[in-house]
Amino acid sequence: MNFIFDIPATVFFGDNKIVETGNLLKGFGTTKTMIVCDKAMLDLGFVDKVISSLEEENIEYVIFDSVMPNPTDVLMHEGAKIAEEKNINSFVAIGGGSVMDSAKAINILLTNKGKIADYEGINKVAISTLPLIMIPTTSGTASEVTSVSVVTDTKRHKKMVIAGQFVGGNIALCDPSLTMKLPKGITASTGMDALTHAIEAYVSKWASPVTDAMALKSIKLIMESLEEAVLKSSKISREKMMLGSVTAGMAFNSALLGLVHSLAHPLSAHYDIAHGVANAIFLPYVVEYNIETFGDKLKPLAESMGIEIGGLDEKTLADSVVNKLIDLSETIKIPKLKSLNIPKEDFKMLAEEAMLEMSTMTNPKETNVDDLIMIIEKAYLR
Ligand code: NAD
Repeated sequence: MNFIFDIPATVFFGDNKIVETGNLLKGFGTTKTMIVCDKAMLDLGFVDKVISSLEEENIEYVIFDSVMPNPTDVLMHEGAKIAEEKNINSFVAIGGGSVMDSAKAINILLTNKGKIADYEGINKVAISTLPLIMIPTTSGTASEVTSVSVVTDTKRHKKMVIAGQFVGGNIALCDPSLTMKLPKGITASTGMDALTHAIEAYVSKWASPVTDAMALKSIKLIMESLEEAVLKSSKISREKMMLGSVTAGMAFNSALLGLVHSLAHPLSAHYDIAHGVANAIFLPYVVEYNIETFGDKLKPLAESMGIEIGGLDEKTLADSVVNKLIDLSETIKIPKLKSLNIPKEDFKMLAEEAMLEMSTMTNPKETNVDDLIMIIEKAYLR
């Protein structure tokens, strides 16, 4: 047995944890912070809650609210320029993965300088970054507990993965109450993102007993609660989804991911498709492709998905896993690949780019461009 398990952040989990932001930030000796968010966070009143808790501790703040989904390198440089001018000495990120990844990238630029593309890859960030508190408002990316930031390179149309030491935040304030009003479509796509993290981490070449435990727990939580979170937004389903997301993040931060992410990144980078939608589109077909490699992991995976395994032979079990993923996507109304108007002539280019993605390295099965085109075509025909 030989593995590393790492999570960059201390996790505080529970309703209304947001009010502890100022107190926790004070512990780092900070005097002026940058609140990184998007406009929705202002409209929902979440930023006001952060501000109140900062004011209680006499911490000054500036607000950077320009983040958009699939955040770009241009935005990161804009944010870092403001952070430098305003002389801030910490960050609070409140929002989905796009916001949290932006705060991480701006933090890197402020301390390490240069261009964000300089840090693409693993362990390129050499200098320690400033204190960063992450407050997720979607249950999906788990960026709050990962040492990863994903930023779109606008010239190369590529989602750059920046990973390693000094990338992650220091504290994750996981407050499920912030997700109660998350719209149905975003709940569905971000929830499928979290499920993809858990499944890909579970079968990754870098999986360990620790990440397996986290991943299986996450799959169970998400399979029990995603549909209810989308259809009813009950309190218990929101809580389980946030726990499912954060445990998936703990798993994939060390185990890394697989071909679903390899295919999803070029799709999002070229056509600005939401990350969770892109993952959900490919998940059943990548699982179907990889499933011959699952071995002893197939039964625990099926069980954690709520499938009755008694008496089922391996082939039937494998089909049940794939069909359950397709059915879940149908029920929660994930858009189909065909509806996104991606030109079929681009499939080869998407497959070629997917081959070069970091996640391809840890996928349990070796792959090639032809196989990846086949997976895209299967998803297209759904
Ligand atoms: P997002 O952050 O792009 O947010 C999607 C939309 O949801 C936005 O319009 C936002 O305003 C809205 N929103 C967020 N919270 C809300 C709430 N509580 N109520 C109402 N609306 C709300 O979506 P995401 O899926 O969380 O993040 C996706 C990004 O994260 C992608 O760029 C992806 O590549 C990246 N990602 C990063 C990691 C990581 O480890 N760093 C992992 C997976 C994905």
